[in-house]
Amino acid sequence: MVRVTNTNHESIFTGLSHPLREAIFSVLTMRSSIRITLVLLGCLSIAAPITHAQKKNSKPAAAVAPAADDKALKFLAIGDWGDNGQESQQAVANEMGKFNQEFEAKFVISTGDNFYCCGVASVDDPQWMSSYENVYRNHSLQIDWNVVLGNHDYQGNPQAEIDYSKKSRRWIMPSRYYTQVKKVGKNATARFVYLDTNPFIDKYLKNPDNFDHIKSSAADAELAWLDSVLSNSKETWKIVIGHHPVYSSGSEHGNQPELIARLEPVLEKYHVDAYFSGHEHDLQHQKRADGTVNYFVSGSGGEPRPTGKTETTKFSSDHPGFMAITLKKDAMDVDAIDSKGKKLYSTTLSK
Ligand SMILES: [Zn+2]
Repeated sequence: MVRVTNTNHESIFTGLSHPLREAIFSVLTMRSSIRITLVLLGCLSIAAPITHAQKKNSKPAAAVAPAADDKALKFLAIGDWGDNGQESQQAVANEMGKFNQEFEAKFVISTGDNFYCCGVASVDDPQWMSSYENVYRNHSLQIDWNVVLGNHDYQGNPQAEIDYSKKSRRWIMPSRYYTQVKKVGKNATARFVYLDTNPFIDKYLKNPDNFDHIKSSAADAELAWLDSVLSNSKETWKIVIGHHPVYSSGSEHGNQPELIARLEPVLEKYHVDAYFSGHEHDLQHQKRADGTVNYFVSGSGGEPRPTGKTETTKFSSDHPGFMAITLKKDAMDVDAIDSKGKKLYSTTLSK
């Protein structure tokens, strides 16, 4: 386990490859050197004359100082988007970019099916540009994208999506499943666990022609890892992300029995607050009446599909869109926003 700490990230990455760990450390070391240099330059500048531009840009110290302890951790959730920038994908991307200029989320959760129809072939696949880089262009979206693999990503080369993390400033997928810890203000923390739910799905394991990267033992190993991560988790909030919903009222797939059988008991056991997924091309909030976990689906980042309601449904919408999450020490706000900027739904989970 490697603890990585700086002013922008408070993260623990597990399962990182050795070269990636070295790369992160070298970047952080470089950043630290730059910071030290800047501090020294700042000290030297005390004696230097203040230019007109410096006067113009100078602000009182109080305005620069960070706000109170209850500073929120904000992030966005979007899924099922990678469609060569077709109309609906681009509309959601444009709105998400515009929205985040004000909202100022620090990172994005991408819930999988990142590239239709068939994943990417390599880190140089043209879809990196046509479905991702050239679509999410707004400067407000040049932030970390923490990504999981969907079933369509397995139709190509899933390892290429991991390897792209070394090429991209913003694409984060250090391994097929991984975890991070982030600060929520000064007095709270949140653990994020990013899963690869594909190995849990029976029909994929029975279809090696399309899912030859999946081994039947992978789900057992991942579940043991998840149990270990959550059993050691002391964070205020626990949030798990995977491509496949556990509960869903979508028109295409519905509830996922394998995840209800194997994943839900672990989420309940360790009091996970929320599980975010995609796979269904809609926006949903599901919660079992006698359960404690809130299940969100954010999978309408591309072409949406009709959705419906079941006994666990608190909200569902077939609008193209995304979710915006505001995490504070004692509350989590989840808003569903459509591609025209309309707030479709808002809920607050309290501690
Ligand atoms: Zn899917």
